[in-house]
Amino acid sequence: GLGEYDDQNVFARILRGEIPCKKIYEDEWALAFHDISPQAPIHVLVIPKGKWISVADFSSHGSTDEVAGFWRVVAHVAKKLGLWESGYRLVANMGEHGGQEVPHFHVHLFGGRPLGRMLE
Ligand code: 5GP
Repeated sequence: GLGEYDDQNVFARILRGEIPCKKIYEDEWALAFHDISPQAPIHVLVIPKGKWISVADFSSHGSTDEVAGFWRVVAHVAKKLGLWESGYRLVANMGEHGGQEVPHFHVHLFGGRPLGRMLE
């Protein structure tokens, strides 16, 4: 498994305001901000406020309100960025094989150009 939540991970520090971010939206459930190293014209990260490492934590920690609140922010941001018509892509990397680098659950939102097929 992924072990204990690390309070010093970079997204925990962003949530505490210790590291700046280019914020797009925030509410009681989640924060959305631009990725520091964009892989598409639009590359946004959406992170829950809860201390979740991966979706595995939905089963043990997340209340229904927290889980729903998080996904509503994902939808809100896609709409706010004007991606509703063109389409976009959501990706969540989990653990070692998923290539997860930051151990705080996050969804990548890619858009702004045709993205081609998944998985190299
Ligand atoms: P992962 O590989 O864990 O799914 O993706 C982590 C993402 O976080 C990467 O796309 C990386 O560019 C982004 N990232 C890492 N550190 C920072 C940071 O300090 N600020 C922002 N805005 N993004 C970051």
